[in-house]
Amino acid sequence: MKTDVAIIGGGPAGMLLSQILDLNGISSIVLERQTKEYVLGRIRAGVLEQGTVEMMSKAGIGDRIEKEGFIHESIGIGFDDAVHSIDVVGLTNGSVVTVYGQTELTKDLYQIREETKGVVLTGVEDVQLYQLTTDEPYVTCRHAGENLRIDCDFIAGCDGFHGPSRQAIPVSHLNEYHLSYPYGWLGVLSETPPVCDEVVYSNHERGFALCSMRNKELSRYYIQVPSGDRVSDWSDDDFWKEFKQRVPNVIASTIVTGPSIEKSIAPLRAFVADNLNYGRLFLAGDAGHIVPPTGAKGLNLAVSDVYYLSEAFKSFYKQGSEKDLSNYSSTALRRIWKTVRFSLMCTKMLHLSPQSTPFEKEVQKAEIRYLLSSKAAMTTLAENYVGLPY
Ligand SMILES: Cc1cc2nc3c(=O)[nH]c(=O)nc-3n(C[C@H](O)[C@H](O)[C@H](O)COP(=O)(O)OP(=O)(O)OC[C@H]3O[C@@H](n4cnc5c(N)ncnc54)[C@H](O)[C@@H]3O)c2cc1C
Repeated sequence: MKTDVAIIGGGPAGMLLSQILDLNGISSIVLERQTKEYVLGRIRAGVLEQGTVEMMSKAGIGDRIEKEGFIHESIGIGFDDAVHSIDVVGLTNGSVVTVYGQTELTKDLYQIREETKGVVLTGVEDVQLYQLTTDEPYVTCRHAGENLRIDCDFIAGCDGFHGPSRQAIPVSHLNEYHLSYPYGWLGVLSETPPVCDEVVYSNHERGFALCSMRNKELSRYYIQVPSGDRVSDWSDDDFWKEFKQRVPNVIASTIVTGPSIEKSIAPLRAFVADNLNYGRLFLAGDAGHIVPPTGAKGLNLAVSDVYYLSEAFKSFYKQGSEKDLSNYSSTALRRIWKTVRFSLMCTKMLHLSPQSTPFEKEVQKAEIRYLLSSKAAMTTLAENYVGLPY
C-alpha cells in the first residue's frame, strides 16, 4: 500500500489529522490497534477550548458540537463551603469553553472518515516503523491475518503514550521529562442531571473533587484518591459519601446521585517528549505529552498539535516547503509547555498533597483566596482555561 502520510493511532489526534489532510488533497492511512467499538466506547475528556471547536468546524464536524455541546461562560471554584464563579466570558472578551464528550467527538470523526471513504484500519497488530531518516519511510503491521507494508512520505505518531512511534526514536534524539503525583482521579459517570450549570473544581481538606458533565442527563464526577487505590476499593455508596463531604453544601444537598455506569481511576502525571520529530516521523497528542487532567487540556493539546502538523504538511505538499515541518516540534512545544505549566499550577492549587506541611497548606489557601479576590489572577486563569492562541 502507498500513501502520503501513514498515521499510527485512531484516537482524536490521528482521526482529526487524517480528515484535515483529506480536505487538503493529502492522502493518509490510519492504523488503529483497537476495534472501532472499543475506541468509541472510551470515556475520557469533555471540555473543548474555543480553538478545538473551531478546528472541528474547519474539519467539517462542527454541526453536532454546535447543536449538542454546552457553552460554558464561567468556571466554579468550590472553596470554604461556597461555589465562587469566575466569569470566563467577561474576563476574556467573549471566549468560552464547550462541554462535549471526547466519546462523541471521536464518533463524529469516525463517521466523517467513513463518509469521505478514508482508509482507517482497525484491529492492527505489531506496528513497526522503518527508514525514518530517509525520504522513503514505511510502516509494517498485521491486519485481518495479512502482513501489510505501507510506503509513505511521512509518519504521524498519534498512538498515545504507550504506542510504538515515540519508542522508534533513538534515545540519543529524545529528552523525556516526567512528573508523577502520589494520587489519581476516581471518576464516576452517572445517568443523572448535572448538579450545576458550570464545571466546579473543589478544594477541600479531605482532597479535591470535581463536578463535570457530558449532557443534560449525564454527569461526570471525580474525587482525588491515593495512588494504588483500585476501582474495586470504591463502591458507589463510598464514592458519593466521600464526594459530598468534599464539595460545598449547596452542591452536596442538591446533587442527584445514581449508580455509576462507568467508574475508573486515572493516574495524575505529566510527561513531555522533546523532541516531537525524528527524520520523517512526527509525534502528536498523547504520544508526545501527557498533562494532569486538572484544567482539561489533554485532548485540546492533541488538537493544537494537529493544527501545527497539518499546516506543516500543507506547506510541504502545496508549496514544496519543509520549513514548517522542521519547526513543528519547537512550535508545538512552546504551546505545550505553557499548557503543562497551567495544568500543574491548577493541580497544585486545588489538590491535597500528602506531603504538604501545615505551612504549605496555609499558602495553598492564600493562593485560592488571592485568585478569588484578584481580577488579574482570575483573568490569567480564564485565558488559559479557554485556551492559548495557536
Ligand atoms: C484513561 C484516560 C482518561 C482521561 N481523562 C481525561 C479527562 O477526564 N479530561 C481530559 O481533559 N483529558 C483526559 N484524558 C486525556 C485525553 O483523553 C487525551 O489527551 C486524548 O485522548 C489524546 O488524544 P490522542 O489521539 O493523542 O491519544 P489517544 O486518545 O490515546 O489515542 C491514541 C490511539 O492510538 C492507538 N494505539 C496505541 N498503540 C497503538 C499501536 N501499537 N498501533 C496502533 N494504534 C495504537 C490507541 O488505541 C488509541 O486509539 C484521559 C486520557 C486517558 C488515557
